[in-house]
Amino acid sequence: MLYQGYCARCGRRVRTEENWFKGKIWASTAVFHWACLIALMKEHGEAAAEDAAWKASRVTREQ
Ligand SMILES: [Zn+2]
Repeated sequence: MLYQGYCARCGRRVRTEENWFKGKIWASTAVFHWACLIALMKEHGEAAAEDAAWKASRVTREQ
């Protein structure tokens, strides 16, 4: 079982086979479950959502 690290929002481990997101946020590399990322975007508003979506579009799964 491979883990990408701990979700920056909920703190649970993110498994490789789950949908997840890894990107540079807040000047550090963060890993999120997709569900957590979406929730985070809703909490932080549209501008944050657009920024994260743009970053997500550039991140592909690392196998
Ligand atoms: Zn999470």
